[in-house]
Amino acid sequence: MKAIAVTPGKPNSVHLTDLPKPSLDQVKNGRGVLVKVLKVGVDATDREINEAKYGAAPPGYDFLVLGHESFGVVEEVGQAVKHVKPGDFVTATVRRPGGSIYDQIGTSDMTSEETYCERGINLLHGYLTERYVEDHRYVVALPETLEAVGVLLEPMSVAEKGIEQAYEIQRRLKVWRPERAAVVGAGSLGLLATLALRLRGLEVTTLARTAPPTLNSDLVEAVGARYVSTRETPLIEAAEEYGPFDIILEATGVSSVAFEGMEALGRNGVLVLTGISGGDHTVEVPGDSIMLGFVLGNKVAVGSVNANRAYFERGVQDMALAAAEYPGWLERLLTHPVRGLDNYAEMIRLLTEEKTAIKVYVEVDGRSAARE
Ligand code: BGC
Ligand code: ZN
Repeated sequence: MKAIAVTPGKPNSVHLTDLPKPSLDQVKNGRGVLVKVLKVGVDATDREINEAKYGAAPPGYDFLVLGHESFGVVEEVGQAVKHVKPGDFVTATVRRPGGSIYDQIGTSDMTSEETYCERGINLLHGYLTERYVEDHRYVVALPETLEAVGVLLEPMSVAEKGIEQAYEIQRRLKVWRPERAAVVGAGSLGLLATLALRLRGLEVTTLARTAPPTLNSDLVEAVGARYVSTRETPLIEAAEEYGPFDIILEATGVSSVAFEGMEALGRNGVLVLTGISGGDHTVEVPGDSIMLGFVLGNKVAVGSVNANRAYFERGVQDMALAAAEYPGWLERLLTHPVRGLDNYAEMIRLLTEEKTAIKVYVEVDGRSAARE
């Protein structure tokens, strides 16, 4: 069975490799789900793993199969599996539990352990292959109506977690009635966060560098949010004009933006950091003024990584709502298909060079396998 892999530690090592076909008995107690992969989304994480900035091979292997944003169809299930059956569309979560108390209660995304296992990223093979087998606890079902866009569920789950964390934290305020949000970054994560915040009824300003009109700015406006180019109006000015922002979600991974977000945040506000970069930039910030604003304004900044199954489930709900309220919107994010695993070089090229791409994804098997 074909798979797209890298040799961790070796830059630009992306290549095609061979894996044995998985079988249900690899998961104990009849809890296995065998999934035929239909589509896999890729993002900056995959690009940076190929640049050898991070990523580790599973024990016993010298390669790591890429791909953490999967969409597939169930082919076979073990006898203990009740929530999915052959023919169902599914995705699977990315991180597997470690030993901390957070892992034990189903929130491996909050693990306190330094080393974590993530499919396609760290110590576990990913989904850029023909089939995978997984414990049913990590398999999330999607309705048939989301067949065309199901590959967006993993990035959606990351947006959902960030937003849910903000609401959870703001319970400290006893009555939090957020009105205005800013999302910084209009890539796939920024756009999905814009959508999720609009679905919660907030007035949303989404900021990105590029001057409109672009597909990204169109998509922002299509869900009733405001698009602002930071070349014309930097975040801090935008906060004066369109704020105060009760929530700012950082989705660029540029560290200077995180500190600008601290300055731009409204009183009692919450800043959610979701972007990361493998870089090592140093930034100079107006420390005294940020600190003053944070203390006098009772502000919070929180980091948010990964997502557990609850956020995938919330993502399914929001995607179904989006399909009803903004039909065709999610489809428009799927800008750059790559046909087949053989085209891995094109996949990396698009991730590296195609600045207009919103979501690059591999059509592992384009056929509607459910109806075969
Ligand atoms: C993935 C997350 C993962 C993170 C860090 C992101 O691209 O969406 O699931 O936890 O990278 O490895
Ligand atoms: Zn991703």
